[in-house]
Amino acid sequence: MVTGRASDTPRKGAGAVREEGASLDCPACGGRSFAPLFSMWEHRYEECRECGFQRMADPPSPVELDGFYSESRQHAFDAYQEHEKNLKRFHKILERLERSVRPGRILDVGCSMGTSLVAASERGWEAVGTELCVPAAEYGREELGLDIRVTSLEEGAFVQEGLEEESFDAVLMHHTFEHLRHPDRVAGIVHRLLRPGAVFYTAQPNHACLKARLFGACWSYGVTPEHLNLFSPRSLKLLLARQGFKVLGYQTWSDRRDPRLIYDLMRRLGREDTLRRWCGIEGESFDDKAQEAYVAFLTKRRLPYFVSNFLWPARLVGALRLGQDLHMHARKLGGNG
Ligand SMILES: [Zn+2]
Repeated sequence: MVTGRASDTPRKGAGAVREEGASLDCPACGGRSFAPLFSMWEHRYEECRECGFQRMADPPSPVELDGFYSESRQHAFDAYQEHEKNLKRFHKILERLERSVRPGRILDVGCSMGTSLVAASERGWEAVGTELCVPAAEYGREELGLDIRVTSLEEGAFVQEGLEEESFDAVLMHHTFEHLRHPDRVAGIVHRLLRPGAVFYTAQPNHACLKARLFGACWSYGVTPEHLNLFSPRSLKLLLARQGFKVLGYQTWSDRRDPRLIYDLMRRLGREDTLRRWCGIEGESFDDKAQEAYVAFLTKRRLPYFVSNFLWPARLVGALRLGQDLHMHARKLGGNG
């Protein structure tokens, strides 16, 4: 997916509110005071005044979200297209994880079709995944022979799926945290599933990155209709510490190639119409057809091609820890570590 699309929005019902009894406290620091941030994709966003944690102030209801994730076939399709690229990425992640824990039993929460499980198996791990998107889970099970269970850690349903407490040496969450209604509760469940001394590795967008600072609400990698939470290194560290983890370290990743760069910049400048004209896009929505036209614009014209492939100073941004992907790993206290 090139850009956030309003058509993919987990639709907000009239009067969508946090479910009854849900805590309004900050899941990262426990703070209770939030400042309004901006509106985007028909949602309002707010920021914790204590720790800077950001979230959608009016998220879709649990029923709407479950429907969205279980039915959406686009997710499985997108993941399939990127299987090879992602396989390499997961080998890199696991290599880093293995500096802190030896291969044993690993759980990937939100594993999609299971590319991470393929990489983990190749490295000697016994790999289990959970996924809400049924087509993605079925593809991984049937075509790749993986152990993927359709369940959500948020509802406590993992117990029925045979995921036992203190039975994992590592838990991976790759771009899952930002989708969760209760990231703190899920981190608590992850803590229970891990053996003492085991490691939790999580990767998600970093709202303290340079692109978010430059583009604000128009930072389309982080601010999408599916992302209910946005973390910075500070707020994520706080959340993990409050759930009983010792943070071992973090990195931010930045990619020189970024097809969103021009899109984000033009939206930030209020020049989306100009971009449409350049790409020959008719109509208002940035649908699949419009995205095709945009991608053609990026690949066929020299300047856009240069800007989206070579301009971004990825190495410098990574060295300054201002990359848009935040990877953090933490140990469950109580073991040898
Ligand atoms: Zn907070």
